[in-house]
Amino acid sequence: MSNELEYVPSNKRGLMLFYQDHLYQKLKRPNQDGTQSWRCRDYRLKNKHCKALFYTKDNKIVALPGQHFHEKVKKTEVTFACAKKKIKDLVKTETGPIKKIFESTINKTIADNQLEISESALFAPKNKNIEKSLYDLRHENLVPFLPKSTKDIIFSGAF
Ligand SMILES: [Zn+2]
Repeated sequence: MSNELEYVPSNKRGLMLFYQDHLYQKLKRPNQDGTQSWRCRDYRLKNKHCKALFYTKDNKIVALPGQHFHEKVKKTEVTFACAKKKIKDLVKTETGPIKKIFESTINKTIADNQLEISESALFAPKNKNIEKSLYDLRHENLVPFLPKSTKDIIFSGAF
């Protein structure tokens, strides 16, 4: 069990924190003294409603969480949440085919972390599920820089 704080990108709630095998969601506002509270992501689940909560200040823990009475979060899930963010960043900045970026990032994540294929299959994002949002991301970020037709290309100088 690691005592390190690991920030994990999350599309719904911005940022999560992985600490001692559990994932925590950032509560909206830090307190006036700069203390940030983080609540177990299972808080919202009706059958769990986990109340474990902890506090950080300047990226250090100032109050430890209480007990969780539910299963731990697998590190593989965290690894793939980070891989998904990486795919999104690459789609924004690179021009190669989206499917290729997706596949090579997933394959590299599996290889670099020596993950089991069966566990990877459980937690890896599915291309068909995020394809549309990836295309939207690319559209927002790259299309404005690409000419839409030859009319948009401005030739300068004398011919
Ligand atoms: Zn919990």
